[in-house]
Amino acid sequence: MNKINSKKTPLYRDTGFYLENSEKTISAFDEERNHPHKPQNYIYSRYRNPTVVSVEEQLKGIEGAKWTLLTQSGMSAIDIALSIFQNKSTDNKWMFFNDIYGGTNTFIDEVLVERRSIKIERFYSEDNTYNYLKLIDQLDKFKPKLLYFETISNPMLIVADVQRIIKEAKKREIIIIVDNTFASPYLLKPLKFGADLVIHSATKYFAGHGNITAGVISGNSDKLLKKAIEYRKLVGHMISPDDAYRLGSQLMTFNLRFPKQCENANKLAGFFHESPLVNRVFYPGIRDHYTYNEASKMFNGNGFGAIITFQFAGETDMQKKKNCDLFIEKISQYFHLIPTLGDVETIFLPVDAVWADKYPFPGTIRLSVGIEDYDYLENIFSNVLSEL
Ligand code: PLP
Repeated sequence: MNKINSKKTPLYRDTGFYLENSEKTISAFDEERNHPHKPQNYIYSRYRNPTVVSVEEQLKGIEGAKWTLLTQSGMSAIDIALSIFQNKSTDNKWMFFNDIYGGTNTFIDEVLVERRSIKIERFYSEDNTYNYLKLIDQLDKFKPKLLYFETISNPMLIVADVQRIIKEAKKREIIIIVDNTFASPYLLKPLKFGADLVIHSATKYFAGHGNITAGVISGNSDKLLKKAIEYRKLVGHMISPDDAYRLGSQLMTFNLRFPKQCENANKLAGFFHESPLVNRVFYPGIRDHYTYNEASKMFNGNGFGAIITFQFAGETDMQKKKNCDLFIEKISQYFHLIPTLGDVETIFLPVDAVWADKYPFPGTIRLSVGIEDYDYLENIFSNVLSEL
Protein backbone atom coordinates (compact mmCIF):
# COMPACT_ATOMS: atom_id res chain seq x y z
CA MET A 1 0.00 0.00 0.00
CA ASN A 2 1.12 3.55 -0.65
CA LYS A 3 2.24 5.62 2.33
CA ILE A 4 -0.71 7.41 3.96
CA ASN A 5 0.06 11.12 4.09
CA SER A 6 -1.79 11.97 7.26
CA LYS A 7 -0.71 15.28 8.77
CA LYS A 8 -1.82 14.16 12.22
CA THR A 9 -0.53 11.46 14.50
CA PRO A 10 -3.26 8.82 14.17
CA LEU A 11 -5.44 7.70 17.02
CA TYR A 12 -3.56 4.74 18.50
CA ARG A 13 -6.04 2.90 20.63
CA ASP A 14 -3.69 0.04 21.42
CA THR A 15 -3.37 -0.67 25.11
CA GLY A 16 0.02 -2.29 24.51
CA PHE A 17 2.66 -2.28 21.77
CA TYR A 18 4.43 -5.45 20.71
CA LEU A 19 8.05 -6.09 21.59
CA GLU A 20 9.93 -8.39 19.23
CA ASN A 21 11.69 -10.74 21.65
CA SER A 22 12.84 -11.26 25.26
CA GLU A 23 15.98 -9.25 24.78
CA LYS A 24 14.05 -6.21 23.51
CA THR A 25 11.53 -6.67 26.32
CA ILE A 26 14.26 -6.61 28.96
CA SER A 27 15.87 -3.49 27.53
CA ALA A 28 12.52 -1.70 27.03
CA PHE A 29 11.47 -2.30 30.63
CA ASP A 30 14.93 -1.42 31.95
CA GLU A 31 14.77 1.84 30.13
CA GLU A 32 11.21 2.47 31.30
CA ARG A 33 12.30 1.96 34.91
CA ASN A 34 15.46 4.04 34.73
CA HIS A 35 14.63 6.77 32.22
CA PRO A 36 10.83 7.05 31.97
CA HIS A 37 11.22 10.65 30.83
CA LYS A 38 13.54 9.80 27.92
CA PRO A 39 11.60 7.06 26.15
CA GLN A 40 12.81 5.05 23.18
CA ASN A 41 9.84 2.66 23.05
CA TYR A 42 6.13 2.52 23.45
CA ILE A 43 5.22 -0.37 25.74
CA TYR A 44 1.87 0.17 27.37
CA SER A 45 -0.60 3.04 26.88
CA ARG A 46 -0.96 3.81 30.57
CA TYR A 47 2.77 4.63 30.49
CA ARG A 48 2.94 6.42 27.16
CA ASN A 49 0.91 6.55 23.99
CA PRO A 50 1.95 8.10 20.65
CA THR A 51 -1.34 9.97 20.17
CA VAL A 52 -1.09 11.41 23.66
CA VAL A 53 2.56 12.37 23.14
CA SER A 54 1.71 14.25 19.93
CA VAL A 55 -0.90 16.36 21.75
CA GLU A 56 1.52 16.92 24.64
CA GLU A 57 3.97 18.36 22.08
CA GLN A 58 1.23 20.70 20.84
CA LEU A 59 0.42 21.86 24.38
CA LYS A 60 4.07 22.31 25.27
CA GLY A 61 4.25 24.98 22.58
CA ILE A 62 1.11 26.73 23.81
CA GLU A 63 2.34 26.76 27.40
CA GLY A 64 5.95 27.68 26.54
CA ALA A 65 7.13 24.73 28.61
CA LYS A 66 10.01 22.28 28.29
CA TRP A 67 7.55 19.46 28.88
CA THR A 68 3.82 18.89 29.20
CA LEU A 69 1.89 15.83 30.34
CA LEU A 70 -1.78 15.10 29.76
CA THR A 71 -3.94 13.55 32.44
CA GLN A 72 -7.47 12.26 32.66
CA SER A 73 -8.81 15.34 34.49
CA GLY A 74 -7.75 18.63 36.03
CA MET A 75 -7.97 16.97 39.45
CA SER A 76 -5.55 14.23 38.43
CA ALA A 77 -3.11 16.91 37.22
CA ILE A 78 -3.43 18.54 40.66
CA ASP A 79 -2.90 15.20 42.40
CA ILE A 80 0.28 14.57 40.38
CA ALA A 81 1.61 18.10 40.86
CA LEU A 82 1.23 17.85 44.63
CA SER A 83 1.99 14.18 45.25
CA ILE A 84 5.41 14.22 43.66
CA PHE A 85 6.57 16.58 46.41
CA GLN A 86 5.29 14.45 49.26
CA ASN A 87 7.90 12.39 51.08
CA LYS A 88 8.19 10.38 54.25
CA SER A 89 9.86 13.15 56.21
CA THR A 90 7.89 15.46 58.42
CA ASP A 91 8.51 18.63 56.43
CA ASN A 92 5.42 18.24 54.27
CA LYS A 93 4.15 21.72 55.08
CA TRP A 94 2.21 23.14 52.18
CA MET A 95 0.44 26.46 51.78
CA PHE A 96 -2.62 27.09 49.66
CA PHE A 97 -4.47 30.24 48.76
CA ASN A 98 -8.01 29.86 50.06
CA ASP A 99 -9.71 31.34 47.01
CA ILE A 100 -9.34 28.39 44.71
CA TYR A 101 -11.65 25.91 43.02
CA GLY A 102 -13.95 24.20 45.55
CA GLY A 103 -12.93 20.71 44.38
CA THR A 104 -9.28 21.52 45.06
CA ASN A 105 -10.19 22.82 48.52
CA THR A 106 -12.08 19.59 49.28
CA PHE A 107 -9.13 17.55 47.96
CA ILE A 108 -6.86 19.45 50.36
CA ASP A 109 -9.10 18.73 53.35
CA GLU A 110 -10.19 15.19 52.62
CA VAL A 111 -7.16 13.73 50.90
CA LEU A 112 -4.08 15.75 51.82
CA VAL A 113 -4.96 16.49 55.44
CA GLU A 114 -7.24 13.61 56.43
CA ARG A 115 -5.60 10.74 54.61
CA ARG A 116 -2.04 11.84 53.96
CA SER A 117 -1.44 13.93 57.11
CA ILE A 118 0.08 16.84 55.22
CA LYS A 119 0.37 19.96 57.34
CA ILE A 120 -1.35 22.73 55.48
CA GLU A 121 -2.03 26.37 56.00
CA ARG A 122 -4.34 28.57 53.97
CA PHE A 123 -3.73 32.13 52.90
CA TYR A 124 -7.00 34.07 52.91
CA SER A 125 -7.87 36.98 50.69
CA GLU A 126 -9.14 40.16 52.32
CA ASP A 127 -11.96 42.01 50.60
CA ASN A 128 -11.33 40.04 47.43
CA THR A 129 -7.72 40.99 47.11
CA TYR A 130 -4.43 39.60 48.40
CA ASN A 131 -2.46 41.39 51.08
CA TYR A 132 1.10 40.62 50.01
CA LEU A 133 2.71 41.83 53.22
CA LYS A 134 0.56 39.34 55.12
CA LEU A 135 1.48 36.65 52.64
CA ILE A 136 5.19 37.28 53.18
CA ASP A 137 4.68 37.26 56.93
CA GLN A 138 2.79 33.97 56.73
CA LEU A 139 5.46 32.42 54.49
CA ASP A 140 8.13 33.41 57.01
CA LYS A 141 6.18 32.07 59.96
CA PHE A 142 4.81 28.83 58.53
CA LYS A 143 7.84 28.13 56.31
CA PRO A 144 6.03 25.96 53.79
CA LYS A 145 7.88 23.70 51.40
CA LEU A 146 5.29 24.38 48.71
CA LEU A 147 2.89 27.14 47.69
CA TYR A 148 -0.21 26.67 45.53
CA PHE A 149 -2.50 29.30 44.02
CA GLU A 150 -4.69 30.13 41.02
CA THR A 151 -3.78 32.97 38.64
CA ILE A 152 -7.44 34.04 38.49
CA SER A 153 -9.36 32.49 41.35
CA ASN A 154 -12.54 30.45 40.93
CA PRO A 155 -15.18 31.84 41.34
CA MET A 156 -14.40 35.34 42.69
CA LEU A 157 -11.82 36.15 40.01
CA ILE A 158 -9.10 37.51 42.24
CA VAL A 159 -6.02 38.01 40.09
CA ALA A 160 -2.73 37.09 41.71
CA ASP A 161 0.38 39.15 41.17
CA VAL A 162 2.12 36.01 39.95
CA GLN A 163 5.46 37.71 39.42
CA ARG A 164 5.57 39.10 42.95
CA ILE A 165 4.40 35.91 44.64
CA ILE A 166 6.92 33.79 42.77
CA LYS A 167 9.74 36.22 43.54
CA GLU A 168 9.00 36.06 47.28
CA ALA A 169 8.57 32.28 47.21
CA LYS A 170 11.82 31.76 45.28
CA LYS A 171 13.75 33.84 47.80
CA ARG A 172 12.60 31.33 50.39
CA GLU A 173 13.20 28.27 48.16
CA ILE A 174 9.53 27.40 48.15
CA ILE A 175 8.16 25.20 45.36
CA ILE A 176 5.47 26.99 43.34
CA ILE A 177 2.49 25.29 41.72
CA VAL A 178 0.06 27.44 39.79
CA ASP A 179 -3.39 26.56 38.48
CA ASN A 180 -3.66 28.67 35.34
CA THR A 181 -7.03 27.35 34.11
CA PHE A 182 -8.91 30.69 34.13
CA ALA A 183 -6.16 32.86 32.62
CA SER A 184 -4.85 30.21 30.21
CA PRO A 185 -1.45 30.64 28.53
CA TYR A 186 -3.04 33.22 26.24
CA LEU A 187 -3.05 35.71 29.11
CA LEU A 188 -0.20 34.41 31.22
CA LYS A 189 2.60 31.85 31.23
CA PRO A 190 3.62 31.37 34.87
CA LEU A 191 6.65 29.20 34.00
CA LYS A 192 8.22 32.33 32.54
CA PHE A 193 8.22 33.86 36.01
CA GLY A 194 9.75 30.78 37.60
CA ALA A 195 6.76 28.63 38.63
CA ASP A 196 7.87 25.02 39.09
CA LEU A 197 4.68 23.49 37.75
CA VAL A 198 1.62 24.84 35.99
CA ILE A 199 -1.59 22.87 35.86
CA HIS A 200 -4.82 23.29 33.89
CA SER A 201 -8.19 21.74 33.80
CA ALA A 202 -8.11 21.11 30.03
CA THR A 203 -11.79 20.29 30.40
CA LYS A 204 -12.30 24.06 30.21
CA TYR A 205 -10.69 26.38 27.62
CA PHE A 206 -8.30 23.92 25.99
CA ALA A 207 -11.15 21.54 25.11
CA GLY A 208 -13.62 24.41 24.87
CA HIS A 209 -16.65 22.39 23.75
CA GLY A 210 -17.84 20.76 26.95
CA ASN A 211 -17.09 17.29 25.62
CA ILE A 212 -13.74 16.22 27.11
CA THR A 213 -12.54 15.84 30.70
CA ALA A 214 -8.77 16.27 30.81
CA GLY A 215 -5.90 17.86 32.69
CA VAL A 216 -2.50 19.28 31.86
CA ILE A 217 0.67 19.61 33.87
CA SER A 218 3.72 21.46 32.54
CA GLY A 219 7.18 22.29 33.78
CA ASN A 220 10.78 22.91 32.82
CA SER A 221 12.71 20.58 35.11
CA ASP A 222 13.70 17.08 33.92
CA LYS A 223 13.74 15.87 37.51
CA LEU A 224 10.09 16.88 37.97
CA LEU A 225 9.15 15.39 34.59
CA LYS A 226 10.57 12.03 35.67
CA LYS A 227 8.64 12.13 38.94
CA ALA A 228 5.41 13.25 37.26
CA ILE A 229 5.60 10.54 34.59
CA GLU A 230 6.25 7.87 37.20
CA TYR A 231 3.39 8.99 39.40
CA ARG A 232 0.96 9.28 36.46
CA LYS A 233 1.86 5.75 35.46
CA LEU A 234 1.56 4.28 38.95
CA VAL A 235 -1.81 5.77 39.85
CA GLY A 236 -3.22 5.52 36.31
CA HIS A 237 -3.90 9.22 35.77
CA MET A 238 -3.17 8.88 32.05
CA ILE A 239 -5.66 10.43 29.60
CA SER A 240 -7.32 8.09 27.09
CA PRO A 241 -5.96 8.25 23.50
CA ASP A 242 -9.47 9.10 22.23
CA ASP A 243 -9.77 12.11 24.51
CA ALA A 244 -6.24 13.20 23.68
CA TYR A 245 -6.93 12.97 19.95
CA ARG A 246 -10.07 15.07 20.18
CA LEU A 247 -8.35 17.53 22.49
CA GLY A 248 -5.58 17.92 19.90
CA SER A 249 -8.14 18.85 17.23
CA GLN A 250 -10.02 21.25 19.47
CA LEU A 251 -6.78 22.90 20.57
CA MET A 252 -6.27 24.07 17.00
CA THR A 253 -8.89 26.78 17.61
CA PHE A 254 -7.90 27.72 21.16
CA ASN A 255 -6.12 30.87 19.96
CA LEU A 256 -9.25 32.02 18.17
CA ARG A 257 -11.80 31.01 20.80
CA PHE A 258 -10.21 32.38 23.94
CA PRO A 259 -9.55 35.97 22.75
CA LYS A 260 -13.14 36.16 21.43
CA GLN A 261 -14.46 34.88 24.77
CA CYS A 262 -12.35 37.47 26.62
CA GLU A 263 -13.55 40.25 24.33
CA ASN A 264 -17.21 39.28 24.78
CA ALA A 265 -16.74 38.99 28.55
CA ASN A 266 -15.08 42.38 28.82
CA LYS A 267 -17.96 44.07 26.98
CA LEU A 268 -20.62 42.15 28.88
CA ALA A 269 -19.00 42.95 32.23
CA GLY A 270 -19.26 46.65 31.32
CA PHE A 271 -22.90 46.13 30.39
CA PHE A 272 -23.71 44.43 33.72
CA HIS A 273 -21.74 47.08 35.58
CA GLU A 274 -24.06 49.74 34.16
CA SER A 275 -27.25 47.85 35.01
CA PRO A 276 -29.18 49.04 38.10
CA LEU A 277 -30.35 45.43 38.54
CA VAL A 278 -26.83 44.28 39.22
CA ASN A 279 -25.30 45.06 42.59
CA ARG A 280 -21.68 44.18 41.85
CA VAL A 281 -19.66 42.78 39.05
CA PHE A 282 -16.57 40.77 39.90
CA TYR A 283 -14.56 41.02 36.70
CA PRO A 284 -10.87 41.95 36.70
CA GLY A 285 -11.28 44.12 33.60
CA ILE A 286 -13.54 46.57 35.41
CA ARG A 287 -11.59 49.48 36.82
CA ASP A 288 -13.11 49.25 40.28
CA HIS A 289 -12.36 45.53 40.55
CA TYR A 290 -10.14 44.83 43.54
CA THR A 291 -7.37 43.35 41.39
CA TYR A 292 -7.69 45.44 38.22
CA ASN A 293 -4.09 46.62 38.65
CA GLU A 294 -2.72 43.10 39.02
CA ALA A 295 -4.72 41.99 35.98
CA SER A 296 -3.48 44.90 33.89
CA LYS A 297 0.10 44.19 34.93
CA MET A 298 -0.02 40.40 34.45
CA PHE A 299 -2.11 40.16 31.29
CA ASN A 300 -0.44 42.96 29.30
CA GLY A 301 -3.68 44.30 27.89
CA ASN A 302 -4.48 41.02 26.12
CA GLY A 303 -7.75 40.56 28.01
CA PHE A 304 -9.08 39.84 31.48
CA GLY A 305 -10.47 36.34 31.17
CA ALA A 306 -13.86 35.10 30.06
CA ILE A 307 -15.68 34.53 33.35
CA ILE A 308 -17.85 37.17 34.93
CA THR A 309 -19.18 36.75 38.45
CA PHE A 310 -21.96 39.16 39.37
CA GLN A 311 -24.42 39.69 42.16
CA PHE A 312 -28.00 40.82 41.70
CA ALA A 313 -29.29 43.99 43.31
CA GLY A 314 -31.99 43.94 46.01
CA GLU A 315 -32.83 45.63 49.29
CA THR A 316 -32.22 42.45 51.26
CA ASP A 317 -30.29 39.20 50.74
CA MET A 318 -33.66 37.49 50.18
CA GLN A 319 -34.48 39.97 47.42
CA LYS A 320 -31.08 39.48 45.76
CA LYS A 321 -31.64 35.73 45.76
CA LYS A 322 -35.15 36.14 44.42
CA ASN A 323 -33.94 38.32 41.55
CA CYS A 324 -31.22 35.81 40.80
CA ASP A 325 -33.71 32.92 40.73
CA LEU A 326 -36.01 34.84 38.44
CA PHE A 327 -33.09 35.66 36.16
CA ILE A 328 -32.13 31.97 36.04
CA GLU A 329 -35.68 31.01 35.15
CA LYS A 330 -35.77 33.50 32.28
CA ILE A 331 -32.22 33.12 30.97
CA SER A 332 -32.58 29.33 30.87
CA GLN A 333 -34.52 29.68 27.62
CA TYR A 334 -31.26 30.77 26.01
CA PHE A 335 -28.36 29.41 28.05
CA HIS A 336 -27.83 26.36 30.23
CA LEU A 337 -27.04 26.17 33.90
CA ILE A 338 -24.04 23.83 33.79
CA PRO A 339 -21.40 23.40 36.48
CA THR A 340 -18.44 23.78 34.15
CA LEU A 341 -16.94 26.66 32.17
CA GLY A 342 -14.89 27.54 29.12
CA ASP A 343 -17.28 26.16 26.51
CA VAL A 344 -17.86 27.95 23.22
CA GLU A 345 -21.47 28.48 24.29
CA THR A 346 -22.27 30.85 27.14
CA ILE A 347 -23.25 28.90 30.27
CA PHE A 348 -23.76 29.88 33.90
CA LEU A 349 -23.82 28.66 37.48
CA PRO A 350 -25.43 30.18 40.60
CA VAL A 351 -22.40 30.52 42.90
CA ASP A 352 -24.24 30.52 46.23
CA ALA A 353 -26.24 27.43 45.25
CA VAL A 354 -22.96 25.50 45.06
CA TRP A 355 -20.73 27.22 47.64
CA ALA A 356 -23.26 28.94 49.92
CA ASP A 357 -21.12 28.42 53.02
CA LYS A 358 -18.03 29.97 51.47
CA TYR A 359 -19.09 33.06 49.54
CA PRO A 360 -21.09 35.67 51.37
CA PHE A 361 -22.77 37.05 48.26
CA PRO A 362 -26.35 35.82 47.94
CA GLY A 363 -27.81 35.97 44.47
CA THR A 364 -24.53 35.60 42.60
CA ILE A 365 -24.03 34.11 39.14
CA ARG A 366 -20.81 32.86 37.55
CA LEU A 367 -21.14 33.41 33.84
CA SER A 368 -18.83 31.60 31.45
CA VAL A 369 -18.91 33.65 28.29
CA GLY A 370 -18.84 31.95 24.91
CA ILE A 371 -17.95 32.93 21.37
CA GLU A 372 -21.42 34.04 20.27
CA ASP A 373 -21.86 37.30 18.39
CA TYR A 374 -21.61 40.05 21.03
CA ASP A 375 -24.78 41.90 20.01
CA TYR A 376 -26.74 38.66 20.25
CA LEU A 377 -25.49 38.18 23.82
CA GLU A 378 -26.17 41.73 24.94
CA ASN A 379 -29.64 41.64 23.44
CA ILE A 380 -30.57 38.54 25.37
CA PHE A 381 -29.21 39.83 28.68
CA SER A 382 -30.78 43.21 28.13
CA ASN A 383 -34.21 41.65 27.45
CA VAL A 384 -34.02 39.28 30.38
CA LEU A 385 -32.90 41.98 32.82
CA SER A 386 -35.72 44.23 31.67
CA GLU A 387 -38.21 41.50 32.62
CA LEU A 388 -37.03 41.26 36.24
N1 PLP B 1 -8.94 23.93 38.51
C1 PLP B 1 -9.94 24.82 38.31
C2 PLP B 1 -9.64 26.28 38.42
C3 PLP B 1 -11.24 24.38 38.04
O1 PLP B 1 -12.21 25.28 37.87
C4 PLP B 1 -11.49 22.98 37.98
C5 PLP B 1 -12.85 22.48 37.72
O2 PLP B 1 -13.80 23.20 37.64
C6 PLP B 1 -10.43 22.09 38.19
C7 PLP B 1 -9.18 22.60 38.45
C8 PLP B 1 -10.66 20.61 38.13
O3 PLP B 1 -10.72 20.20 36.79
P1 PLP B 1 -11.49 18.89 36.27
O4 PLP B 1 -12.93 19.10 36.52
O5 PLP B 1 -11.10 18.81 34.84
O6 PLP B 1 -10.94 17.75 37.07
